[in-house]
Formats: sequence, C-alpha cells, structure tokens
Amino acid sequence: MRARPERWALYLLPFTFFLVAVGGSRQAPPTASTYDLLLKGGHVIDARNKISAIRDVAIKDGKIAAVAANLKSADALKTVDVAGLYVTPGLVDIHVHTYTGTGERGSYAGDNSVYPDGFTFRVGVTTVADAGCAGWRNFEDFKQRIIDRSKTRILAFINIVGNGMRGGKFEQDLTDMEAAPTAEMAKRFPGLIVGVKTAHYQGPEWIPVERAVEAGTLANIPVMVDFGTDHKERPVAELVTKKLRPGDIYTHVYSGLRGELDPSGHVNPGLIEGRKRGVIFDVGHGGGSFLWRVAVPAIKEGFLPDSISTDLHIGSMNTGMKDMLNVMDKFLALGLSLDDVVAKSTWNPAREIKQDGLGHLSVGAVADVAVLRVETGRFGLTDMNGARMDSTQRLMCELTVKDGRVVYDLNGISRPEWRTLPPDYGPIGDGRWDGLNPARGTTPGTQRGREGAAPPAGPARR
Ligand SMILES: [Zn+2]
Repeated sequence: MRARPERWALYLLPFTFFLVAVGGSRQAPPTASTYDLLLKGGHVIDARNKISAIRDVAIKDGKIAAVAANLKSADALKTVDVAGLYVTPGLVDIHVHTYTGTGERGSYAGDNSVYPDGFTFRVGVTTVADAGCAGWRNFEDFKQRIIDRSKTRILAFINIVGNGMRGGKFEQDLTDMEAAPTAEMAKRFPGLIVGVKTAHYQGPEWIPVERAVEAGTLANIPVMVDFGTDHKERPVAELVTKKLRPGDIYTHVYSGLRGELDPSGHVNPGLIEGRKRGVIFDVGHGGGSFLWRVAVPAIKEGFLPDSISTDLHIGSMNTGMKDMLNVMDKFLALGLSLDDVVAKSTWNPAREIKQDGLGHLSVGAVADVAVLRVETGRFGLTDMNGARMDSTQRLMCELTVKDGRVVYDLNGISRPEWRTLPPDYGPIGDGRWDGLNPARGTTPGTQRGREGAAPPAGPARR
C-alpha cells in the first residue's frame, strides 16, 4: 500500500502547482533528474545481456540509462514499482499484417489487415514487421497510409510480388515477381524494409522463392518464406537445404501443411539439416499455421522455434491465435522456460531482421520495454483446428514503454491514486516519461516537453 499524504498537504498541493507553473515558465526546468523513468524491483529478462534477475531499469531521453540493482528513486522524475513483475525488452513480432485502410476487400493490402496500434502496446509489442502486404508497386502507399502514422514501430518485409498481398490473381502472377525493382525499393528504405517475403504461391515452380532470394541478395536482407501450397516438385527439405541462404526465414514451421513432420511423425530431417545451415525457423501462428499435433512432437524432439510471431490479421486474431502473449503462452505450455520464450520474442527476432538496436535493454539502447505478469490458473490454448491444450500459466501485459514513454498501463501502476491529487486535477503526467496523459507543454515529441518545461498555468482540460 502506498502512504497517503497528510490532509494539510493536500490543501497545499494546488498552491504548490501554481508556484511551480509560474516559476517554471521563466526558469530552468524545476526537476532536472538523472533519469526520466525508473522501473523498480522487477525481474529483468534480457537475453542479449544474459540477465535474468531482479534489476532496476532506468530510462533517460528515450534510451536505457542504467540496468542495476538498487537504483535510487530520488534520481528519477518518475518511479514505477514493478516488484513481482517481469521486465523485458519491448516484444518484437516479425510476422503481422498491417496494410489496412485501402478499402480493398478480401486482401492483405486491405480489409484483412489491422491497424497496428490497436493490437500491439496492450500485449507488450513495440515493434512489428509487416510480412509482405505490400510490394514495390504499393510500398510507398503502405508507408504513408500506415507506417508513418502509427505509434508502433513498423518495419516491413517487401513482397516479391510487385502488387503485394492483394489476393489470388496478383499473388499467382509470376510476371509480377521481379527482383530488381523489389531490391531497389528495399535499398531506398534501409532499416525500414528489413526483408523480402514470398507467400501463398500455389504453383509447382520455384520462381517465387528464387526471385525473392535474388532480391534479398541484391538488397542484402533476409527472405521470409510462407511456402504456399505443398508440391512434390518443390519439397520443403530442398527449400531449406538448397534454395534458402543462411539467415533466411521459414515461417509457419508448426503448420504441418508442407511436410514439416515426415510420415512417421518425426521432424523432417531436411528441417534439421536446414537449421544446421543457418536457416531460421519462425512460428507465424496465424489462423491456419499452428497445430498441437505438429508442435508437440517437434518440441519433444528438440526442434524449437528461433522466433515466436503471431501472423496477426483480421482472420487469425479471433481464432486459435489471439495475440503475441497468447502465442508465447503456448510455448510456456510446451515446456519452454520464460527466459527462452522472451528471448524468442525479443532479441532473436530483432537479430533475424538485422535490427541489433532492438530487443534488448543495453545502456544506450532504445527504451522499449514490456512489463509482464505471469498469472496462474486454469487456462486453455487452441490451435488452428480448434484443438485445446490446457495450461496453468498466462502472460498479461501490465505496462508498455516505447521510446522511453509509457504507452500502455493496464492497472495504472504508473499513476497516482486520484484522491492524492488536487480537487481540480488536470493531466498530471510529464511528457518526459508519459505518452498517455502528459500535461500541456510536456507533450511527447514537442520541444518544450523534451526540455522539461513546467506545464503552463491555466484551466484544467475539459
Ligand atoms: Zn502472414
């Protein structure tokens, strides 16, 4: 329980605020602190830095400033008590579909996609990679329509199909799969276009994979493969042992749709060989790419995923796949440790897309942080065919920090209890740590907010 201030102090509070406001408009920032935000007492899981222990995490100017035991609250503008919770890098989901808003029906460059901000921060995700909704012909439309307007950090795999994921007639058109313009667009947006995607191809030809690898080689970025319809002319073993390069990504690894298990029910030896070559295996759960009867034997034989991802879209998110934490829950239920599950949802995917600045809490790194709770109880987790596995653990997201500011706070753990505030309280957060309710003048991204000027005096926001 937090101590409440004495009653007389409550009466003084508005007067104090007035003094700070008047003084702050002319003077240096009244509260120049070593840290803007301090997450205190949580269990930090940071795979890159091999930390799994109780640590405090301090943030300054949108970057990680310190990770250590017993950092002082007095040095921070804002301290949040996260004892009993897990503090991880902001989750990185490298398989989502977010090119919505075009009005195109039945298309992942349209109605099948989701606006990312509605589904990310509430589950601890701060970075997503769109998995090929746009190709070189419509990538700039995707960028101006979604990427540039979202608070979520959106990266993208560019589709080898020039028209992107617009549905059947587009995605089966071999003449629109051109390596040169795809690579050219990727090179125009380095660090934003992080890979090339090929997906949904129904024919027996290798052309989509070959063109994607060609584009990936030209732009020096990995390829992610959704291997489409299974064909004996292009078996998965040949894909991962011959066609893909080390560092290329095979997604939907537990779908069972393309011989991931051999007829005897064991992991396809080709996948094991592919992994030895350095090919990456990603979950990409989706609405039709995760089965318990595939995942359970594969995990038993030690074939774990390199990265955990959702394949979030309008069709998957209300079926067996709910959200990133739900997919992580499934791997906890399969017996992986929380440390391992977090690594496969943060540092591993960040490395796969060559974004070494993300997915960890090193000093100086972007301050994207998720604060997670492990709930125990009786839960159920369903696969693409509706089969359930019972489980006893579930991850919940308590707090999400993006670029050093709180962007989601489920139970208000970063907020004061309302009776401790002046009777006419307005927005009382500070833009240096608060991305939700900063007082005017401390709005995130504004110069005044960055410099820490006090909120101007004036009537409370209505
Ligand atoms: Zn997908």
